Amino acid sequence: MDDRLFRNVMGSFATGVTVITTEVAKEVHGMTANAFMSVSLSPKLVAISIGEKANMHQFIKDSKQFAINILSSKQQNESKQFAGQLHSQTEIMFASYKGLPILEDALAVVTCELHSEHVVGDHTIFIGHVTGVKLEQKDPLLFSQGKYREIKELSE
Ligand code: FAD
Repeated sequence: MDDRLFRNVMGSFATGVTVITTEVAKEVHGMTANAFMSVSLSPKLVAISIGEKANMHQFIKDSKQFAINILSSKQQNESKQFAGQLHSQTEIMFASYKGLPILEDALAVVTCELHSEHVVGDHTIFIGHVTGVKLEQKDPLLFSQGKYREIKELSE
């Protein structure tokens, strides 16, 4: 099967966009990710999938905790910055929540302690045990077919 076709098919599944944040040796690290899902209600567990070549892969193994910042429709630049897609980077101010660095303007935040990790092909699925959640009244940033998009309600 052609890799490009596989990526195009996976990219046709519209998602929100998150930035995963963590702290190792007093340094904050962030990475854009859309492979995020809710896994279990009791206990409260979520999953993220991180490529083995990403720096974040080792950072999560070291810190054993991470925050998932669900981006608002106004945070396209943050998504690009934490995906390494901007030539000139902005200094990001992080807030703190449940002992983790978070993006202040996110639509929602989920903080986690590392529950387990599962190597699957060239990615690792990190399962997080949820320690806190925060939610603002904002619209989400969406990603579909390689482009950023906003929610549009369909008329009934
Ligand atoms: P680095 O290359 O270390 O960091 C990424 C960028 O963030 C760098 O430009 C860095 O300067 C900046 N940055 C990091 N920390 C800070 C800080 N403290 N202050 C300011 N800037 C900082 N990859 C996956 O593995 N899983 C996914 O689910 C996934 N989903 C994606 C979804 C989208 C919409 C996009 C665009 C990309 C996605 N990626 C995903 C790819 C991933 O975001 C990139 O490959 C990323 O560059 C790899 O990150 P890294 O940990 O190697 O980070």
